[in-house]
Amino acid sequence: MKKIDKSDFAQGLHFVPLGGSEQFGVNFNLYCCDGKWLIMDCGIGFADERFPNVDIFLPDPKFIEAYKKDIAGLVVTHAHEDHVGAVPYLWPRLKCPIYCTKFTAAVLRAKFHDFPNCKDAKIIEVDCENELDLDPFSLKFIHVAHSIPQAVLTVISTRYGRVVHSGDWNLDPAPVLGVQTDEAALRAVGESGVLAYIGDSTNAPIPGRAGSETDVEAGLGKVFQGIDGRILVTIFASNVGRIQSICRAAEKAGRSVCLLGRSLHRMVSNARECGYLGDIQDFVSERDLPRLSADKILIIATGSQGESRAALARIARGDWKGLKMGRQDVAVFSSKAIPGNEKDINLIKNHLSASGVRVIDGSNAGYKIHVSGHPYRDEIRDMFSWLKPELVVPVHGEYLMLEAQSSLAKECNIPQTIIPQNGSVIRLAPGTPVLVDHVQTGVLAVEPQRIIPSDHVAIQERRKLQFSGAAHITVAINASGVLVFDPQMTLIGMIDGADEGEQDILGDLQQEIEDTLVDLSDDGVVDEIRIEEDLRVACRRYLTNVFGFKPKVSIHLLRV
Ligand SMILES: [Zn+2]
Ligand SMILES: [Zn+2]
Repeated sequence: MKKIDKSDFAQGLHFVPLGGSEQFGVNFNLYCCDGKWLIMDCGIGFADERFPNVDIFLPDPKFIEAYKKDIAGLVVTHAHEDHVGAVPYLWPRLKCPIYCTKFTAAVLRAKFHDFPNCKDAKIIEVDCENELDLDPFSLKFIHVAHSIPQAVLTVISTRYGRVVHSGDWNLDPAPVLGVQTDEAALRAVGESGVLAYIGDSTNAPIPGRAGSETDVEAGLGKVFQGIDGRILVTIFASNVGRIQSICRAAEKAGRSVCLLGRSLHRMVSNARECGYLGDIQDFVSERDLPRLSADKILIIATGSQGESRAALARIARGDWKGLKMGRQDVAVFSSKAIPGNEKDINLIKNHLSASGVRVIDGSNAGYKIHVSGHPYRDEIRDMFSWLKPELVVPVHGEYLMLEAQSSLAKECNIPQTIIPQNGSVIRLAPGTPVLVDHVQTGVLAVEPQRIIPSDHVAIQERRKLQFSGAAHITVAINASGVLVFDPQMTLIGMIDGADEGEQDILGDLQQEIEDTLVDLSDDGVVDEIRIEEDLRVACRRYLTNVFGFKPKVSIHLLRV
């Protein structure tokens, strides 16, 4: 494969996914037509315990930064964090106009409040009626149903042909909020010819159809019946349709709704700004919770993914002022675990259960209480049949999911499929689409005070220390190499200071240091680097023998 350079992008139509392919989240997709770039989505991913003190990941924009002046725009397909979350962090490095629907714009503007570097960012609201001309791209947006309002699919027309970038979607036959995926518009696009379909793979391995939010509303209504205590429902805060479903079901059950969690309040106010949630009863304030009778209240709480600082986790720990859940109360998980979050969610369920709270989730509800926003196999099949693309490039998912969509495309007689990796450069036109190169990509880790590459040495070291512990030892010697006072030793992650038996370890370690110094002195060694290194090796060998793992040892040698 020849290395691609700037001049190769000057002609033709290329697709370069920099994030979201072979990984969950961090969606960041690039299209290049005759040297001009279009970015589709700029989302975050969630870090796991291998990244201590890092909550979120951003896509690394370094590659596209080099083409900054040739970026025609950034389109955000919808307001989920894995599509919009990285915009406030990366916009200052890209400085291009942002295009999105009204609701997504409301969410983004609210985010920008906390990011002064984005004050000059231009957000241009788009709709599904008018085409958007971003020379050499012409964009048409089509409504798709998804678990957030105003998600769009984007038809990208160029002089080389038409590409459909799906964003996240499903074929909910009866969404409770917003409209169905616009089948007629998609069929019309299919009639005019589609060069490539670049689409959501999340649920491609699952047969059948995702189902409908309307059934969820009915299911929740049934679940809420016959409960004497409080009902707490946890959801993705951004699922405005679900908030509406819960409120309607709560009203039928004669319960008032209280929202707990900052992101829920924020999302509700974004939704109201855009005309949603107008016909539901008023929410009761958190302050009023203690005086409302248990069978008259329903709480919607953030934290369905087990986030330890969110409302749900705090309530489960008994750590939320004014609300103690217990016997008779019920917690409903109207959500699904994002892969990797299962353990954290289980911990919360166990806390709730231990307090006597009945836990209801998809496995024991007996009714539909959650529906995925992503298409199952039969829905993807429908999309293929409407669009009839020449090529399918599965994105938005881990490898298994991409592979599942690719094999489904083959089953549906799509002429060609290419499974991309992050950084793949696919030339879509002219000629037969082909993978031509791989550019450098990666993710950035957001620490509380800085943003660094996820493979930064600092993170590697912190990860190592979780397993190895560390020993910091200060040794002071005189000109003849003899100890002038006892070595100062701090062991981290090895011994319990209160345990007297373990003090012997420190005594033996000191002996090890003394013996090593005597050996070095006998050999006439005066080189400080050599002394430090010999002491480090000796201490590490001793500690490894004692503990069976290799602690990180640092020696500070003082000559006095
Ligand atoms: Zn997504
Ligand atoms: Zn989404």
